[in-house]
Amino acid sequence: AATDLGQLAVAVLAQVRDVVVEHEEELGKLDAIAGDGDHGIGMRRGVDAAAAAGEAVSGSSAARVLTAAGEAWSERAGGTSGALWGSAVIAAGLSLGNRETYTSEDAAEAVKAFVRAITELGKAEPGDKTMVDALLPFRDAFLTELDGGAPADRALAVAAAAAESAAAKTADLRPLKGRARPLAEKSLGHPDPGAVSFGLITSRISQFIDS
Ligand code: ADP
Ligand code: MG
Ligand code: MG
Repeated sequence: AATDLGQLAVAVLAQVRDVVVEHEEELGKLDAIAGDGDHGIGMRRGVDAAAAAGEAVSGSSAARVLTAAGEAWSERAGGTSGALWGSAVIAAGLSLGNRETYTSEDAAEAVKAFVRAITELGKAEPGDKTMVDALLPFRDAFLTELDGGAPADRALAVAAAAAESAAAKTADLRPLKGRARPLAEKSLGHPDPGAVSFGLITSRISQFIDS
């Protein structure tokens, strides 16, 4: 039933909250190297609000849970990443809509909508050293796996691994967007905080789905 998928979305949001809480300090330190140091606290505020807002409508569809969660995330997080994550979670929810069951095609569309929301709002290009540098490899790996006939959970595992590895590789880049730009040289050798948090979150969701 549609509400079972709503429950799954609530459980996934709880995992997202937990992994961000576990890494809050690390994400803040990473952002402090060349940014303003608030990525840990900002993500924490966002995921706390998102998980609570999703939980509050847990008897409804995944679409309703995700749109409520995304709105709360944007409102409460503050900062660039909160606005981007919030709009992406809302876009994924709207893409899923209120169906009873979902196909791999629906999952592919939701991932595409998630990524599109962030690139349209943030306008970062590949190589600008933002979360986009982890998002695009994630999306591409996910779509390639599904095209090859992999089930969605397997595609997610491959995509999350691609996101983590791409996030690590952002250490080689100079930031061209966001607050880290004036301190570009300091950022060399360290990965982008938003790319790292995206890798951590997608890996946790994949582990949860597989367990
Ligand atoms: P703020 O930069 O407002 O302090 P955060 O510290 O929470 O917000 O988030 C910083 C992260 O946001 C960066 O590491 C980067 O991944 C991401 N980011 C910043 N600007 C953009 C953008 N224009 N497009 C995509 N991601 C961006
Ligand atoms: Mg910051
Ligand atoms: Mg900030």
